[in-house]
Amino acid sequence: MMSEPKEIFVKLDQCMGCHTCELACAVAHSESKTLYGALLERSVPQKRIYVEWAPPNRPVPILCRHCEEAPCLHACISGAIFRSAEGVVRSDPDRCIGCWTCVMVCPYGVIGRHLQEQKAYKCDRCPDLKMPACVTACPTKALVYRSAATHAKEIRQTAAFKITAGSGA
Ligand code: SF4
Ligand code: SF4
Repeated sequence: MMSEPKEIFVKLDQCMGCHTCELACAVAHSESKTLYGALLERSVPQKRIYVEWAPPNRPVPILCRHCEEAPCLHACISGAIFRSAEGVVRSDPDRCIGCWTCVMVCPYGVIGRHLQEQKAYKCDRCPDLKMPACVTACPTKALVYRSAATHAKEIRQTAAFKITAGSGA
């Protein structure tokens, strides 16, 4: 039986807004793969996850959903955005012409513009790593990498626990 593909899920109540995930993402996408090396690189490494703040004071990590009907992929006029065999929406810098069409159509605002390189960049789920760098780095485990079924089961179990705790059963 084929195993269900894994995705990155956010546990909002566990995020403390430290931005560690952003830093780890940028380093993972640097040439040196080290923090100090990344700081010295000519082409500044970029993050692909963004911690935004919602009222009253709540951090919300936002990252690519690798949409099934991906607007960025459909809109890309040079064929630079494609879906990998694993279902991950990726961008090929060699084919990107820097027109920013994908940036305009992404409903989550998670495609960045590398102005030095004139290339669009986005989450690639760290294909060379066992676990995406942001997930590994998060100190509170607010980011998890698992199948949708596993994630849903945990939500159901938490709900069941709350129901029984509330009813005194
Ligand atoms: S590393 Fe974890 S806790 Fe820190 S901002 Fe990112 S998701 Fe939130
Ligand atoms: S970059 Fe935006 S539009 Fe493209 S797959 Fe990710 S969330 Fe969807």
